[in-house]
Amino acid sequence: MDIPTLAIIVPCYNEELCLDKTINRLIEVLNGLAAEGKIKSDSYIYLVDDGSHDSTWQIIEKHHALDNRIKGTKFIRNFGNQKALIAGLESVREIGCDCAVSIDADLQQDENAIERFINEYMNGADIVSGIRRNRKTDTFFKKFTAVMFYKTMNILGAKIPPNHSDFRLVSKKALKIMELYPEKYLFLRGFFNEVGLNTAYVDFDVKPREAGESKYNFFSLMALALNGITSYSVVPLRFVAVLGFFMALFGFLVGVETVIEKIFWHNSPNGWATTIILLCVFGGIQLFCLGLIGEYVGQVYREVKARPRYVKDIELK
Ligand code: UDP
Ligand code: MG
Repeated sequence: MDIPTLAIIVPCYNEELCLDKTINRLIEVLNGLAAEGKIKSDSYIYLVDDGSHDSTWQIIEKHHALDNRIKGTKFIRNFGNQKALIAGLESVREIGCDCAVSIDADLQQDENAIERFINEYMNGADIVSGIRRNRKTDTFFKKFTAVMFYKTMNILGAKIPPNHSDFRLVSKKALKIMELYPEKYLFLRGFFNEVGLNTAYVDFDVKPREAGESKYNFFSLMALALNGITSYSVVPLRFVAVLGFFMALFGFLVGVETVIEKIFWHNSPNGWATTIILLCVFGGIQLFCLGLIGEYVGQVYREVKARPRYVKDIELK
């Protein structure tokens, strides 16, 4: 196999505090890999400014003026990290590359692992997923929710390895296949795991953020998880149907029992508590199921509107 042209994709949202350092570091990585003959010298970095309000875009422009290997685009507003990643992947597919690696702007992911990604690519992998060795830098809450999420996804049938991240290499072939999936809320971690391409794994250490704060909060993580589940599995809907069936069966049996009791033993109704408990339990289950179905209806609604995934304001190639 020929040595590849590598594109490094970096989603950035209000990253002025670390971007300078990150770009310099990634250029060093490109230079190092090119000097070792592992990648072509026309390899480049593609930064996606996800509608930042600080000087992130000015930093990108400055580096682009100095070195044409720094390319990028600015979104018209904030679309979220997943959209920024998708934009990066689609843009480098258009500009041209043999493989692309996505990495966070805060360099929490070990940029030195990119070399091992390339080795796996040269061994024939079309997708190389970075697996975190540990979650030392995460809060207890984030660790707990992440474990729950990956467990749920696996039970539901989307085979995503735990401690997966968006630090991964994808080949040109994978980028081409991505074009065949027009869904707007494409869940990248699910998609790259189920397309059926040759996949390799590389583990890496997570470092603390270079500077600035995490842009993810409880709600954005929940949104990501819900989108992951509803866009990748209909098992919850089926579960609702099965649950409904058994509930109905249960209700029917209780009904029969009550009638028989009434006819043969003339028992007067007792058990106010039971009534209330049942009401609450069933009410709760119904609301939960409605909400669940609502999530899927919402997913259909968003897809059917077919709004663009993102809108680019400016692009530097
Ligand atoms: N990011 C983005 N758009 C957003 C939020 C985050 O492009 O709306 C980028 C951010 O600049 C960073 C990456 O996504 O490069 C991961 O975000 P962050 O480091 O804040 O998340 P964490 O590492 O805490 O999960
Ligand atoms: Mg981070």
